[in-house]
Amino acid sequence: MRTLVPVLVAFAAAALAWQGCGGSSGRSTQAGGATPAPVPVAPAVSARDFLTDATYRHLLVEIDHVQGHAPSPTALQVLRARLEERCHKPDGVTILVDDAIPPGSGVYSVAENRALEAQHRDHHASGTTAVLYLLYLDGRSDQDAGGARVLGWAHGPSSVGIFRESIVASSNLVASPAEVETAVLVHEAGHILGLVNNGTPMVAPHEDAARPGHDVDEACIMHWRIETSEIRTLITNLGAVPTQFDARCIDDLRASGGR
Ligand SMILES: [Zn+2]
Ligand SMILES: [Zn+2]
Repeated sequence: MRTLVPVLVAFAAAALAWQGCGGSSGRSTQAGGATPAPVPVAPAVSARDFLTDATYRHLLVEIDHVQGHAPSPTALQVLRARLEERCHKPDGVTILVDDAIPPGSGVYSVAENRALEAQHRDHHASGTTAVLYLLYLDGRSDQDAGGARVLGWAHGPSSVGIFRESIVASSNLVASPAEVETAVLVHEAGHILGLVNNGTPMVAPHEDAARPGHDVDEACIMHWRIETSEIRTLITNLGAVPTQFDARCIDDLRASGGR
């Protein structure tokens, strides 16, 4: 357990890196400036853009994957269902399973994830379409420590990385790889929608003080364990894999213009 702390604190910092820079075109600037960390988001999007139809009536989910690590169709179905349930998108939610890309380094930092995204992402918000981009990576996160693995991260306002090999390694007799993948996808989508207190304000306090951006309730999909190999502990405790936002998360989404 102790070894998890630096991993998740570091992860939380990565996950929250874009918070508080709303609307600024310079938000992807990294310390140093000489090292490019491109997050080609144009125009800037916010959680509210995903939740409401004020600017974008349609949501496109573009998914690229490293060869051999394609997404599970059932996980994508649930992701789409959750987005449809929570976002006002009268023109619908479209899932686009796009490019298979060559294997990379096998160990990815957030910067490396962003660089690959810059290379392969085809769609950005435009017209009435908002875009969520998912990249399924091979190998693992550089924030893994000891036996603790990161299963996914939201590293920008419309950008998610998924570590499918770590997801498979974190499945067990109770939860199949596809079920763990489903939970991770919905969790990362929750971060894009501003949960918890990560761009979408809380109606009632329920953020885990020790794990910023996460729900204190173990039964909520936004619990921190969902995106780590600790998901096994959670599944054992609950006897099932959560796939849904709890009432307090839904209250937050609705108060910020979602459904
Ligand atoms: Zn999280
Ligand atoms: Zn919640």
